[in-house]
Amino acid sequence: MYHKQKSPLYRSHGIYIPLSLYVGSGGTPGGCVPYFVPFRVKFDKVTMVLRILTYNEVKTKREGIFVMNKINLKSLLYLIIVPFLFAENPPSDKLKLMAVEKVDSQSKLIQEMVDMIFSFGELGFQEIETSNYLIGILEQNGFKVTRGISGIPTAWMAEWGKGKPVIALGSDIDGIPKSSQMPGVAYHKPIIEGAPGHGEGHNSGQAVIVAAAIAMKEIMINEKIKGTLKIWPGVAEELVATKAYFVRDGYFKDVDACIFTHVSSNLAVTHGQAGGNGLLSVEYSFKGKTAHSAGSPWRGKSALDAVELMNIGWNFRREHLRPPYRIHYIITDGGDQPNVVPRNASVWYYLRELDYEHIMELFDYSNDIAEGAAKMSGTELISTRILGSAWPRHFNEPIARAMYTNIKEVGLPVWDKNDQALAKAVQKEAGNKEIKGLPTELDSLRGPVSSKNNWGGGSDDIGDISWTVPTVTLRFPSNIPGLPGHNWLNGISMATPIAHKGAVAGAKVTAMTLVDLFTDKGLVKDAKKYFKNQTKETKYQPMIRKTDKPAIELNEEIMRNYRDEMKKFYYDPSKYDTYLDQLGITYPTIKKK
Ligand SMILES: [Zn+2]
Repeated sequence: MYHKQKSPLYRSHGIYIPLSLYVGSGGTPGGCVPYFVPFRVKFDKVTMVLRILTYNEVKTKREGIFVMNKINLKSLLYLIIVPFLFAENPPSDKLKLMAVEKVDSQSKLIQEMVDMIFSFGELGFQEIETSNYLIGILEQNGFKVTRGISGIPTAWMAEWGKGKPVIALGSDIDGIPKSSQMPGVAYHKPIIEGAPGHGEGHNSGQAVIVAAAIAMKEIMINEKIKGTLKIWPGVAEELVATKAYFVRDGYFKDVDACIFTHVSSNLAVTHGQAGGNGLLSVEYSFKGKTAHSAGSPWRGKSALDAVELMNIGWNFRREHLRPPYRIHYIITDGGDQPNVVPRNASVWYYLRELDYEHIMELFDYSNDIAEGAAKMSGTELISTRILGSAWPRHFNEPIARAMYTNIKEVGLPVWDKNDQALAKAVQKEAGNKEIKGLPTELDSLRGPVSSKNNWGGGSDDIGDISWTVPTVTLRFPSNIPGLPGHNWLNGISMATPIAHKGAVAGAKVTAMTLVDLFTDKGLVKDAKKYFKNQTKETKYQPMIRKTDKPAIELNEEIMRNYRDEMKKFYYDPSKYDTYLDQLGITYPTIKKK
């Protein structure tokens, strides 16, 4: 069953009731004039905002229109019009309350989106079902969708509204190889053995932004607020393979600010230089000569030798790098069969460092090592293909501060005993020493991580966008803390009430922050000022070259192998309330002692 979240926003706030108050008397000059004053009363905090305009104020503002003690047409008109002229825009607190209610009213849709995308379990560049499904929802809700942006079939840009500000919302959509897992089951039980799945939790982020955008759209219609909402997907984020192309192709040119969301185990936002690394993803391919591996090996040149020598070169080089680096590789082509000297071989590297300069330095080393390996093996280095790239991330302080205020209002979801039991069982299964369950306290608002304190780590190509427009990443609590990442363990919570509640909380914070961005001009201005400062010395330059193209064929073969089997497990919300129901899983399912 789906557990509806109760937000503290309901508990800490009263209800605004618009009232008009008739103030004053017949009035002598200088006294009060008959006037309907718009004011608002907030009952629980007993705050009252009361604006009384005196005759003098009126006189200076509307000289000659008002004639005391004599009701004429002009004064009557004045009586009707002035309250509107002086009435404030609806207070953002009221709009935020509306935003929260509108997200709550979509909690069923959020649960369906989270479960549906989990059931698709698609890998990067092959998010075909995911993309069609989300575009369908966006189009139903009046968004104009441009498909296939940057030449990426599963990417899109959805747009609603008109004029400034333009606020873009993004979240990743791709899965992790071999992480198929039954949700709500606290031990390894793949839906399909060896198949991909959502072993990170990218199935939840679009639900967060789509629900928030729909809420904001309705508020903008009701309150006549101007501006444009954009929604885009982080296609193939695990390959950091698309966002730099969106930037290169100008999709963020007119964007004033961007809210990105990412699954996490707390509700949080940071500002300034984030922890972790940027990266360059590059595949080296070598070409040799085939020969009979036993009959005439001396006539062959092994491309696989080049790959192995390149790896050896890097593994020696490691010792002489700065500590925050991370380098890892897989052999994408190691030849065909042992009795044929491999003509072709390829190796795929992720080169990670803290900043652009150091990443490019690693790339230079890497190219030298590759050339050296080709020479040693007598083969040819035939291609150095960039498959992806990510700038280190830097997040906007004014937006992060506004967002954190909203995070405190929304608070963490209320976890029940089943949620906690699942979380603890999964942490135990992961071999953790500390079994803490789900968090009940919010993280603090954290600032920049200095390079001295940054020991490197993961990357996300939102980095490229964060150096193009003012950007923040909202982390929302749909996953369990203390897990290894990129693993079936990280998929367990992702189609359960934990993920649903976490996504609802994230959508509320996102919608409230949209209210801030669309109604507080000062915030967008401050965000831009901060961004100007951020980019004063560090200038963004893409790591992808002008001729590079998105590697859209990646993962095609894996998905071809599994898709038919996976189709049988797609979520059908017309028949089942939740995906757990469809799979017949008792929540939570925990190993018996
Ligand atoms: Zn991610």
